[in-house]
Amino acid sequence: MQDCLFCRIARGEIPAKKLYEDDEIVAFYDINPIAPVHFLVIPKVHVASMDELGDEHAAVMGKLMVVIGKLAREQGCTDGFRTIVNTGRVGRQEVYHLHVHVLGGTDVLPPML
Ligand code: 5GP
Ligand code: ZN
Repeated sequence: MQDCLFCRIARGEIPAKKLYEDDEIVAFYDINPIAPVHFLVIPKVHVASMDELGDEHAAVMGKLMVVIGKLAREQGCTDGFRTIVNTGRVGRQEVYHLHVHVLGGTDVLPPML
């Protein structure tokens, strides 16, 4: 069992405002949102970053991508949204459990970088 912040959120040991959960995936609102809609989608299995993904994760990551679109639409992002995956030092990743940021809920997001 991993002593990792997002593993602990997935297990319900640390509270988070979850908007979706199934046997393989959890989505919860970011504690420090940078857009009116800002949630994170994670695989329950501990994968530190996108750099650590292997062939064994292909199915869950494919499912995760499909879930993102459904959740974004449910959150009112009917005219688009932004997904971000920060990876490693260069990507300024802070939490080393792979997560996809989903951002939206505004007319147009600011440009990236
Ligand atoms: P990263 O830079 O690793 O892609 O972003 C990590 C994200 O996790 C940040 O946007 C941060 O606000 C969010 N975060 C960090 N700790 C917690 C927490 O305990 N609960 C929730 N819901 N989000 C968190
Ligand atoms: Zn983890």
